[in-house]
Amino acid sequence: METRNPSRRRFIRNLSAGLGTLMVSPALTFGCLEKPQSKKLGVALVGLGSYSGGQLAPALQETKNCYLAGIVSGTPSKIKDWQQRYDIPAANCYNYENFDEIAKNPAIDIIYVVLPPSMHKEYTIRAAKAGKHVICEKPMAMNAAECAEMVAACKDAGRMLSIGYRLHFEPHNMEMMHLGQQKIYGKVLRIDTVNGYSWGGDPNAWRLKKAMGGGPLMDMGVYSIQGSRYTIGEEPTFVTAKEVKTGNPLFKEVEETISWELEFPGGTKAKGETSFSKNYSYLRAEAEKGSFEIKPAYGYGGQNGKTPKGPMNLPQVNEQALQMDDFAECVMQKKPTRVPGEMGMLDMKVIDAIFRSVRSGKREAIQ
Ligand code: NAD
Repeated sequence: METRNPSRRRFIRNLSAGLGTLMVSPALTFGCLEKPQSKKLGVALVGLGSYSGGQLAPALQETKNCYLAGIVSGTPSKIKDWQQRYDIPAANCYNYENFDEIAKNPAIDIIYVVLPPSMHKEYTIRAAKAGKHVICEKPMAMNAAECAEMVAACKDAGRMLSIGYRLHFEPHNMEMMHLGQQKIYGKVLRIDTVNGYSWGGDPNAWRLKKAMGGGPLMDMGVYSIQGSRYTIGEEPTFVTAKEVKTGNPLFKEVEETISWELEFPGGTKAKGETSFSKNYSYLRAEAEKGSFEIKPAYGYGGQNGKTPKGPMNLPQVNEQALQMDDFAECVMQKKPTRVPGEMGMLDMKVIDAIFRSVRSGKREAIQ
């Protein structure tokens, strides 16, 4: 499909010609897979909430290398609905108690953890121990120490671990990686990025509970941290952050707005902000020979971008389908994923340091 699109073909060629090594391995392919693999791998979604229902299950109807084979949920009525809607056999349906029996089910190759962040570590480790490859949603876990346990558990089990970083498969974000990492407009001097939304949901939702991994930094800020890292292609070493609260009682456990400045070893500074009371999303880079940006930057499609040469004019894609197909291909061909657990852990190190800086009021090392 994609090879018939000339701008897409050019885009893939340009990217393949010049991506950096830090965030993306040039040995990997880009965009849609050229050819579907002979066997589709079975994916089981754990947690049938809004992301599983709204994005992942529909995307799994479009994937070429994997399909929706199983589900894990604590709610029997949801299991019934999903079975009917997606033709899932009872033998591939689990709850949180009998989940470990999935080890005996050869129809499930990949377990996709789509639960609140406080549950990511437990279900990733249980999935790896059951002998399955794992995709875990962002933010990878509650902190970097948990991420290290997850990476180690998957390694010990000989299973692959990937994070649901769909934007590594989204053409505008991939173009930011290319322009920044390859210094197409010279060295990137400054980054400015924001991501947030105005909370209009349930006041009792897990996203407002600190112990469940709630708050805008874990939910939305992680994209801005990723965006800064993949545009520059370096790892930040220091951060200075501060929190702004308006006293809204919704945010008694979690932050309302946090802003930060990351310092990179090459001298680049990246300003970021995230909030549960502002609707915004952009990623801007100011380089020696001009600026480039995407806005909106981090949603499911709808990205727009411009460079000193004009609009980016890149295709809109199904990010989730590309992400899952790529992981299935990596599993089948035993090649590394471009979005591994280690990448999620690096973001959690930054998040840990941002929270430390908010508490200390000082510049903190990212370690
Ligand atoms: P959600 O609240 O809609 O769904 C969470 C699911 O977990 C529900 O099915 C719920 O029943 C289940 N669950 C099990 N135990 C629970 C408990 N103790 N408390 C609360 N829920 C429990 O959340 P969501 O929006 O689907 O997010 C799930 C994960 O996916 C999060 O990590 C989130 O950050 C991530 N996510 C990623 C993207 C993306 O673009 N990559 C988008 C949305 C969400």
